[in-house]
Amino acid sequence: MATGKLSLKEMKCSNCGADVQFLPGLELTVCGYCGSKFAVSAPAVDVTVDPPDLIAPFRVDENRFLRAIRGWLSEGTFTPDDVLTSEIETKGTYLPFYAWSGEYKADWFASSGYDRQEEYLEMQGDKLVKKRRTVTDWRPSNGVINGKYLIYTLASDSVDPSLARFCEEVPPSSAVSFDPSQLEGYALEPFEKDRTEFLTRVEDLVDSIAESKARPRVPGDRCKDLNCTTTLTSQNCARVYLPFWVTTFLYGGQPFRCVVDGSDAARIAGTRPVDPDRMQKAKRLMLPGKLSILAAGISLVLLPILGMPFLSGAHKWIVLGLVALSIMSAIAGAIAKSVMLSRSRNLRQRLLEEMNAH
Ligand SMILES: [Zn+2]
Repeated sequence: MATGKLSLKEMKCSNCGADVQFLPGLELTVCGYCGSKFAVSAPAVDVTVDPPDLIAPFRVDENRFLRAIRGWLSEGTFTPDDVLTSEIETKGTYLPFYAWSGEYKADWFASSGYDRQEEYLEMQGDKLVKKRRTVTDWRPSNGVINGKYLIYTLASDSVDPSLARFCEEVPPSSAVSFDPSQLEGYALEPFEKDRTEFLTRVEDLVDSIAESKARPRVPGDRCKDLNCTTTLTSQNCARVYLPFWVTTFLYGGQPFRCVVDGSDAARIAGTRPVDPDRMQKAKRLMLPGKLSILAAGISLVLLPILGMPFLSGAHKWIVLGLVALSIMSAIAGAIAKSVMLSRSRNLRQRLLEEMNAH
């Protein structure tokens, strides 16, 4: 447990409004949330905060982050070719979390279904036939389970809600005791929310953990009406800083948010830009195939109504011809589409390799 206060500098990002803290001596030039450059004249104020209990140090440096985010950005079916040319700037930022851990006890009640085969007689025509069917007998069941939990809740409002859920899915922790030197070179997001704000959510999460543990224990062939009454038998709450690279970049004037886990560069979440022209073009390429299958369907129904004998002579050849046409144009469309998409993918891949080589 760390003791004493931590002396930091604090700045407010003029672009996104996030409060960003950092060790005195560091010159913070980029916001850790939106990647926007701080105005040089932005005033930093002195603050003192309670140090966290634990910290997971950064394992992904700025170079690894850039490689990871560019690799991720270059993927996707309809990603624009020039997406990698957008400027990506950010600062590695420690986000504040409460780590809730402890043990729970859950009493569960359920209906267990037991299947059995039953023979019965049925009239078929004028005969009685012996048949079999499965019937389920339901009987109440119950039990008790004990288990452990570890839940992370993000104690900041600045992160986009969809990305916040991703950040909270922390893999088995590598957090160690806090040491101020681990903050060097990185930004910090202050603890904005009080731990009491999360008590109900933590209880609900432990409840669903208990339920998923109880479900496989319910006897019988099937289970319904599973109900758990969960009690937290112990609870610890630690303040933890976890490392993230959060960035917002502009493409076509629109902001796109992404986050890379600072302890595992393979963990990336966010939204990629999509090229609407290419999406339209792909749809257009598949259109002739769709239109000719529609024409085949219409002529199959409509021509007999207009007096042509159904599927004989001319009608048969018209329908068959349109079906063949639709198959050929569907194949041609699919080939043209895949050539277009793989050309774009190769272009992005080449650009990525060039950028990574530098
Ligand atoms: Zn910002």
